[in-house]
Amino acid sequence: MRALIRSATAVLPLVVALVCAGCGAPAPVPPPVDAAPRPAATTRSLPTTPAPLPTTPAPVSRPVVLLDPGHNGGNAANKAAVNRPVPDGRGGTKPCNTTGTSTNAGYAEHAFTWGLAGRVRSRLEAAGVRVVLTRSDDVGVGPCVDARGAAGGRAGAALAVSLHADGAAASARGFHVAYAEPAVHGTGPAALRLATGLRDALRSAGFAPAGYIGRDGLDGRPDLAGLNSSTVPTALVEAGNMRNAGDAAVLTDPAGRDRIAAAVAEAVLAQLRR
Ligand code: ZN
Repeated sequence: MRALIRSATAVLPLVVALVCAGCGAPAPVPPPVDAAPRPAATTRSLPTTPAPLPTTPAPVSRPVVLLDPGHNGGNAANKAAVNRPVPDGRGGTKPCNTTGTSTNAGYAEHAFTWGLAGRVRSRLEAAGVRVVLTRSDDVGVGPCVDARGAAGGRAGAALAVSLHADGAAASARGFHVAYAEPAVHGTGPAALRLATGLRDALRSAGFAPAGYIGRDGLDGRPDLAGLNSSTVPTALVEAGNMRNAGDAAVLTDPAGRDRIAAAVAEAVLAQLRR
């Protein structure tokens, strides 16, 4: 963000010039502070044109982050729409979307990801980030995975994070972070940095990396259409295994979601500061 602030400050003179471009007369040039008239040594007169004081801060562009809460509450009742094939980002097709998993007690993944996204959003907005979500509620259908993947580029996002929880065997537990491998759209190094930062933040927050998939909490995947379709650095967090009793207890608990959200937001902000 410091880089953005520097660049915004650098363009301020250009903004001043553009504002007056249609005035019909040359734009007045305010005297630089260092060039303010000085009284001659033999007089006591004061400068008649004091250097202008800044009255408003320079405009600063807020960084944009795309959050993609996985699945949607209306998917299960709209199988035809959800199952229609869409581009998978590697020349094939995938179903538009899926219903997602749930805990054994029936807490649905779409509800978990929606709740988690709201918590991450609050934290990022408090830090000055503009957050765009791929869906506006938890009762609709889709969007399809290709559209979710493309949403970061459309929003002008610096990066995108997709939020999920897994539905693996009951004995499997732990979180992992997926990224596109082989890389697409030239975002490979930045996507891996983002995924690694998310993994590190979750581990530092006390969550255990999955031992049943990927390696050390990271999983390069060629088959996730949302990751393949993104033109901005993106990673997908599988926050835990909803079918595992220990993970489900954390995912179901609002305090557990707060802890996950804090780690995700911390990792995102760290990437934005790079
Ligand atoms: Zn999912």
